[in-house]
Amino acid sequence: MYRFFVEEDQIGQGRVAIVGGDVNHIRNVLRMRPGEKVVVSDGKERDYCCRIREIGTDRVVADILEENPAGGELPARIYLFQGLPKNDKMELIIQKAVELGVYQVIPVATRRTVVKLDKKKEEAKVKRWNGIAESAAKQSGRSIIPQVTGVMSFKEALAAADRFDVKVIPFEHASGMDGTRQEFGRIGPGMDVGVFIGPEGGFEDEEIELAAGTGIKAVSLGRRILRTETAGLMVLSVMGYLLETGAPAQR
Ligand code: SAH
Repeated sequence: MYRFFVEEDQIGQGRVAIVGGDVNHIRNVLRMRPGEKVVVSDGKERDYCCRIREIGTDRVVADILEENPAGGELPARIYLFQGLPKNDKMELIIQKAVELGVYQVIPVATRRTVVKLDKKKEEAKVKRWNGIAESAAKQSGRSIIPQVTGVMSFKEALAAADRFDVKVIPFEHASGMDGTRQEFGRIGPGMDVGVFIGPEGGFEDEEIELAAGTGIKAVSLGRRILRTETAGLMVLSVMGYLLETGAPAQR
């Protein structure tokens, strides 16, 4: 079931109101209809299983069917756009990213991606990766099973992140942590956050420029070069900490 985050004051007696970017998502992307069920979360204490009553242009109203203690979700959706790594590394990345609360993993073929997957191989891999996500979700007490999508090109990945609230591209040649602190400090409940990690060979300058052109900030992860499998996990750990401690968002 799709999950949406709302502020506490959007939850009323038996009803919730979903506002902001989620309305367009529900109407035009998911093309949901009244009567369909969604999970609404206040990002803290409780999850609400709801049935959509009406879908307006700037708000969706849903009736609360059931109220449960909050499950294992972070109060924001973090999408990990992972440059396809070599060998079995993707399996480790998916397992750990799910434990750390990732919302979706998008394998990305970049300029320096070495592995080439034909359609058939890709299908088999994606199936296997989703199986790993499912067991990691169960093991770690997640309330959703994060999806691993098919492999996207870098340009497709940029387009997929277009409407996101915060998006970063960790780049080992970015200087200083000020930009990192600033970008990470913007994340807050209910947001869609995109994180782009390069494969073993990293990103090419042109890719960083292309990303910058769509509003994605190149950020440093510190003075050491992290392996591709470490970089995303570090970002997820730090973002998880910020979200779960309710660190002040600087918007
Ligand atoms: N081949 C490159 C390193 C690539 S590391 C080199 O040896 O110089 C793989 C990915 O991890 C990078 O594309 C980047 O997204 C991320 N990464 C690793 N260390 C980083 C750091 N210190 N700052 C920002 N991003 C980093």
